[in-house]
Amino acid sequence: MKRPLLEVKNLKLHYPIDKGFLEKEQNYVKAIDGVNFSLYENETFGLVGESGCGKSTTGKAIMKLIEPTDGEVIFQDRDISKFSRSEMRSVYKNIQLIFQDPFASLNPRKAVGKIIEEPLIVNSNLDSKARQERVNELLETVGLHAYHASRYPHEFSGGQRQRIGIARALALNPKIIIADEAVSALDVSIQSQVLNLLRKLQRELGLTYLFISHDLSVVKHISDKIGVMYLGKIIEQGTKDGVYTKPLHPYTKALLSASPAIKSENRKERIVLKGDMPSPMNPPTGCAFHPRCFAAKPECNKILPELRDVGDGHFVACHLYNE
Ligand code: SF4
Repeated sequence: MKRPLLEVKNLKLHYPIDKGFLEKEQNYVKAIDGVNFSLYENETFGLVGESGCGKSTTGKAIMKLIEPTDGEVIFQDRDISKFSRSEMRSVYKNIQLIFQDPFASLNPRKAVGKIIEEPLIVNSNLDSKARQERVNELLETVGLHAYHASRYPHEFSGGQRQRIGIARALALNPKIIIADEAVSALDVSIQSQVLNLLRKLQRELGLTYLFISHDLSVVKHISDKIGVMYLGKIIEQGTKDGVYTKPLHPYTKALLSASPAIKSENRKERIVLKGDMPSPMNPPTGCAFHPRCFAAKPECNKILPELRDVGDGHFVACHLYNE
């Protein structure tokens, strides 16, 4: 059986919140609450959900940009969630992050060649000439040109800046790229160019992606497997075809029905969800989705549904599928 390249096991991030004067027990915001999934080599796992569901926090916790409270992140047979900051430097050679806003992540005072060269200076033994050659190669790899190396970030369009961010992420030949809302700030036509570039790079370099986005059509375009998050938990998980053509969880059905770019076989009419996502400071009892669910049963506000295997690699956390 194929082994995962990276395994996220029961990952949690709970923030303690200030206790009221009369409160005896410490309360927590459960930003991530027991997330499990695996990344397989040369595949893309899409993590999708509304803003505030914990998907970006999951990416940051894997990279230890935020310290997880509990759980494991297994990479190359070791739990990197317990690594020190200096131990994580070796992991950063293999796992890189691409950010939503490439402009904010590119130093405006540095020429693009210097920006892409930075990880090579810190983490490689290449001399200056070899680094220049690598920078030029990376620029060509992402569809730019060697002469762009002397230009500054403000001289590029949004799509080109994201290409520069991708070139920098590729500098050390990583195995995994975590793309956090990587195309969300771009126009739709530019989004598809950058998505096509990511797919081409995956084919040519054998990359593995964790692709985080609120946009179901974008996630569908690039992913092999999907995890749908709600209030810090994955509530449905499966292959792209499984989740998009046969969504099971009422929340996934509602999300798909609201996405004009997605044609779901099951979609008859738009499902309008009641209210907003509840605060993770005060989550609903039982199934956290029950106050908004159009299919809720009496037990839904009392019993937390477990993520169950319903066959064909499809998992769902909902009492409708208990039998
Ligand atoms: Fe809706 Fe109940 Fe399923 Fe939750 S467990 S999604 S409330 S039917």
